[in-house]
Amino acid sequence: SASTELRELLLAHIRDVPDYPEPGVVFKDITPLLADPPAFGALVDALAALCARHGATKVVGLEARGFILAAPAAVRAGVGFVPIRKAGKLPGAVHGQAYQLEYGTAEIEVHTDAFAPEDRVLVIDDVLATGGTAEASLGLIRRAGATIAGLAVLLELSFLGGRERLAPVLADAPLDAL
Ligand code: AMP
Repeated sequence: SASTELRELLLAHIRDVPDYPEPGVVFKDITPLLADPPAFGALVDALAALCARHGATKVVGLEARGFILAAPAAVRAGVGFVPIRKAGKLPGAVHGQAYQLEYGTAEIEVHTDAFAPEDRVLVIDDVLATGGTAEASLGLIRRAGATIAGLAVLLELSFLGGRERLAPVLADAPLDAL
């Protein structure tokens, strides 16, 4: 994982917003980090370094905040960016995956031609909470024919147990929280 110095820089630019979007949830707001070029730049560099370390040939960003982190990391690492989007937004043929939210369900999609069979994919999102979104995403990427190189998040809310839930799904792929 990242150095203590980097972690402190990143954490100093993440704002806790209590009771958003509903009572009892502490929302991790990354907009101060995005507005700070040294912090955002250091994050992008760290994500690009993970991409290289894990031998990724593509970077996937999860809509919507994952896009903001994953796209510059992909460019910095010199690999392609692939969006996983909420259902109904991608224009081509898609694989879709529905998954459970705390209240109700959500569905995400990826283009069927997004990956080549030899692709190794690093998945990037801002926050790992229950792991439901990441679990659905890993399934989609495998159905689209690629291999998981790893999952990288800026923040892991450990008390929600996402890492434990994802262990069997990730198999041997690394989960990095910065
Ligand atoms: P989950 O599927 O439960 O792991 O939730 C992960 C998704 O919800 C991520 O895409 C996060 O952006 C978002 N999310 C969940 N909890 C929070 C939180 N406390 N603060 C910010 N984003 C969150």
